[in-house]
Amino acid sequence: MPWMSPHPCRYPGCGTLIRGRHGHCEDHRKVARRRENEGRPSATQRGYGKDWQRRRAAWLMEHPDCVVCGDPANEVDHIVPLSAGGADDETNYQSLCKTHHSVKTGRHDRHFKGGKTHGQAGRQGQGRRNGL
Ligand SMILES: [Zn+2]
Ligand SMILES: [Zn+2]
Repeated sequence: MPWMSPHPCRYPGCGTLIRGRHGHCEDHRKVARRRENEGRPSATQRGYGKDWQRRRAAWLMEHPDCVVCGDPANEVDHIVPLSAGGADDETNYQSLCKTHHSVKTGRHDRHFKGGKTHGQAGRQGQGRRNGL
């Protein structure tokens, strides 16, 4: 693709001529990126940026204990994963200690291996089974 030649911004109705490999003019580059993040489920994964780090830290300040065992939490978990359509806000956060966070995120592994559950107390304590 001859990206050196000027081409119009891809944003509908804009038409500003731009040079370079960007698809959008400077103004619309940000807009387009934000839209991608909101619109596509796959892109929400990339939403774990600085903003998330900040919200995560703030959440842990207010909710310092693991919701499962009460140990000091150092992970903020999405109760419903973003990839499953969960909200990326406080209604969908829970604090977990490292152990219980890995229990939760590692559950696929366990399914595949069909092995023993490790930390089943946590699963029960959580009282919530995602029967997807
Ligand atoms: Zn534009
Ligand atoms: Zn825990």
